[in-house]
Amino acid sequence: MIRRDTATKPEIAAALQLSLPTVGLIVGELLEAGLLCEIGMQASNGGRPAIALQLIENARLSLGIDITKNHVYFVVVNLRGEIIAGERQEYEFANLLTYYHGLVQRKREFLKKYGIENDSLVGQSCSMPGIVSKNQRWLEYSHIFELKTPMRLNISKDIQYPYMFVNDGTACCMAECYSENMPDSFVYVMLSNTVGGSMVIDKKIVEGKNIRGGEIGHICLVPGGKKCYCGRRGHFDAYCSARVLAEQAGGRVETFFARLEEGDSRLAEVFDEYLDMLALMVYNLHIFTDLDIVIGGYVGSYLAPYLSQLKEKIIRHNIFDESKEFVFLSRYREEAAAVGGALHFIEQFIEKL
Ligand SMILES: [Zn+2]
Repeated sequence: MIRRDTATKPEIAAALQLSLPTVGLIVGELLEAGLLCEIGMQASNGGRPAIALQLIENARLSLGIDITKNHVYFVVVNLRGEIIAGERQEYEFANLLTYYHGLVQRKREFLKKYGIENDSLVGQSCSMPGIVSKNQRWLEYSHIFELKTPMRLNISKDIQYPYMFVNDGTACCMAECYSENMPDSFVYVMLSNTVGGSMVIDKKIVEGKNIRGGEIGHICLVPGGKKCYCGRRGHFDAYCSARVLAEQAGGRVETFFARLEEGDSRLAEVFDEYLDMLALMVYNLHIFTDLDIVIGGYVGSYLAPYLSQLKEKIIRHNIFDESKEFVFLSRYREEAAAVGGALHFIEQFIEKL
């Protein structure tokens, strides 16, 4: 229903295997709640014409905020999961009250600018590069934010809707989970300024015993190799974060890929090494899980022209002869974490209906 433009009561009854009176009751409630509208008559299968119903997609909205070291992203999605407002702002993280107040102020201005009323929000997600405690009160660990001790997570008192704090890799993975045509189980690899990931089994993200599941950035690929931001050596992050490429092109990933496309041979060499390490990691994840691997994040959004090159490198590792594709690219770009968190509340809202 949500994914279709219009539907009639008999169509809904057939799709959901419910009786017509039950559907009538549900539709009545949704009409009253302002979530559906009637848009005329529609011929139904063999029977008499029925009233065509349409979802009012912007009747309820969800806000996703993604905090990175230097930026903050605000995204609002509607009931169809479409992004109706989004902004990336430069705002350097600091573990200070002034940062937090500034963030709340920016959020208010963003919502005001796009005419989004608090009443229409069904939830707010806030993603960040670190481990969020199970009780949602603490950011327990974040190297990128240089936290020495856990950071207390605050939420402004005027928030009347559900909210959550979530790890950025997990939030990106949520965006994939809620996409159409995704398998029930897969592994997500996020190649952004830090490297993260998640494993989804039967539509559920595997959080792990300490909510650290999917910290693939710190899997060691080269003992004693390049230094990772965590202080150890040879970790996947040190070889495949977006910064590895950005450093070669004045700090910008987009510049790196623009020059690569122009045929810069030095960057081609850097990128070949990058793909070698990525291929090794993708292979390791696949051989362990036997699942599809979805690559996203900053770098993921630039990989489409190089996917066959990456696959060739993976094949060289593979001990099995696999004819089926198992490496895919995310449809999202840098807004993925904000979108994923926001979609979480849209799905929750729809499920409740
Ligand atoms: Zn590390």
